[in-house]
Amino acid sequence: MELPLPRHAAPRAWFINQGWSRAAIDLAVRRGRLARPTRGWLVTPTADLTVVQGLGNDGIVSCVSALELHGLEVLRPRRLHLRPLRAAPSPGRTWCPTWRAHPKDVPIDPPEVAMEAAIRCLEGEELLVVLDSALRQWGFPAGDLEFLLSFANKRKQRLRELMGSADAVGESLVHHRLRAKRIRFRPQVYIDGVGRVDMLIGERLVLEVDGRRYHSDDAAFIDDRRRDRLLQEFGYLVLRITYTDIHRRWPAIETQILTFLRADRHRRRPLGLVG
Ligand SMILES: [Zn+2]
Repeated sequence: MELPLPRHAAPRAWFINQGWSRAAIDLAVRRGRLARPTRGWLVTPTADLTVVQGLGNDGIVSCVSALELHGLEVLRPRRLHLRPLRAAPSPGRTWCPTWRAHPKDVPIDPPEVAMEAAIRCLEGEELLVVLDSALRQWGFPAGDLEFLLSFANKRKQRLRELMGSADAVGESLVHHRLRAKRIRFRPQVYIDGVGRVDMLIGERLVLEVDGRRYHSDDAAFIDDRRRDRLLQEFGYLVLRITYTDIHRRWPAIETQILTFLRADRHRRRPLGLVG
């Protein structure tokens, strides 16, 4: 009879519970069907590399790294985010602990635990993207996020004002950057005859954020241009921000917005109705 294997890895106790004998475990390790990345754990040959790397560092894949593995849209982290597996974690690396105690019997934290670690670990726009994506993609309960945020510092708690109004990752980033410059905006404003625009600053400066995924879609591209023409006919000023603008040319975009604001060009009411 074939003995059960975990998806990626499991503590040795899990294998024993599933009917593995010590001899069977040792044999599987000798034959390369299992490996011991750290004391008390066994990984399968098909385990995700991040899991192997995590356990090798005495960590559980957590925080933004776990959320990404669970399919959440996040800003790709520069390092692997781990929650310490041991009671006395190595001081030599950056850990993502949680405020409360959680089980340490799975190699990748479940979304709720990873979210708690992310709220404790991440800052600013990286955190806002995670919160917005969890609400948008997973319908993660806003109350749960607010509860977790209540453990965090005041600066992170202020993200509540922005949370939940972005339709895509790019919008979360722009929201955060506008607020950092104290630029007031309204997200997702409905304009008669046009539909919803991503952001409206003052009465007439419209910001539209082009998501990466929309670029390949010809119909969406043509529709965007039609919307731009309508908005301009109604007297709106349209600033279309691309993914590259956000990641590589943001200072120039910010200067352009501030120039509009200084000239008071955003206040004059356009012809279209704003609801
Ligand atoms: Zn982290």
